Amino acid sequence: MQLNMYVNTFGDYLKHIFKESIHKISLDADFTCPNRDGTLGRGGCTFCNAKSFVTNSHQKPIREQILSNRNSKSNKFLAYFQAYTNTYAELQILKKYYDEAINSADVVGICVGTRPDCLSDEVLALLASYVKRGYEVWLELGLQTAFDETLDLINRHHHFCDYVNTVHRAHDYGINICTHLIIGLPGEELIHNLTTLQLVIDEGVQALKLHQLHIVKGSIMAKQYEQGKIQVYELPEYAQIAAKLIQNTPKDILFARVGASVMDDSLIAPSWSTKRWPCINAITEILSKTGAQGSAIGDSFNYSDFYK
Ligand code: SF4
Repeated sequence: MQLNMYVNTFGDYLKHIFKESIHKISLDADFTCPNRDGTLGRGGCTFCNAKSFVTNSHQKPIREQILSNRNSKSNKFLAYFQAYTNTYAELQILKKYYDEAINSADVVGICVGTRPDCLSDEVLALLASYVKRGYEVWLELGLQTAFDETLDLINRHHHFCDYVNTVHRAHDYGINICTHLIIGLPGEELIHNLTTLQLVIDEGVQALKLHQLHIVKGSIMAKQYEQGKIQVYELPEYAQIAAKLIQNTPKDILFARVGASVMDDSLIAPSWSTKRWPCINAITEILSKTGAQGSAIGDSFNYSDFYK
């Protein structure tokens, strides 16, 4: 039983396009984040630990990072600018790093992770220039939730309208969007996740990443968790919600991730977050019994009364 029997996965999409498995190489270009350097805020998002991004890779040039992180099972790669806010720098600096990645041997495209409020038209035009050259280009937007109250609570310093604005502009430039959502944020339950999902689908999205809320050392949430102010889902609860979201997602939208894993030494909770497979297996089992991606579309869920 495999996830891709029930879910339209990003891995299968890449395999279909390139006729072979594509490995994603995480890169650290030593960018920072406007929610940490004082431009928007200083503490960062309450779930984030800036140190968790520090991989020592940032001391190496991009081309070297790609060379040293190549996976021997793959011949082609996507360069994934993952650490911090990867559109938060002068255009020429971004171009230098993106070019270095794109021009590395066997790289077939780039994924750029960023905040929804941090994308100028110049950066979108730069990314679109790679699309025009035939590269696979994905913008990975950390939305987490469509509820502004929750975004304020977790100190994101952006709102859902920022996401909508960026999605429309990115689509005008022909750039694919992969949206990151967190399940289990404080004050939220299934109805919030379903509502966020529906709003994201309505705005147009090509791929999704689902993450469980996990508490990492050094984050603001770590203190809140110790004080008993925050709870996290156990694996069965998380798998049920993730499966529901997948069942409510149209079949043409890709899932690039259905759960996250965290390094053992930075994790506080939940303990099941250290491994990928138990989560993937639990979701796969639910989908095998209750229906695959898209099977719940048309059920009586109507978010408009809930989302004002
Ligand atoms: S999660 Fe992203 S936007 Fe939030 S503080 Fe961390 S790097 Fe910045």
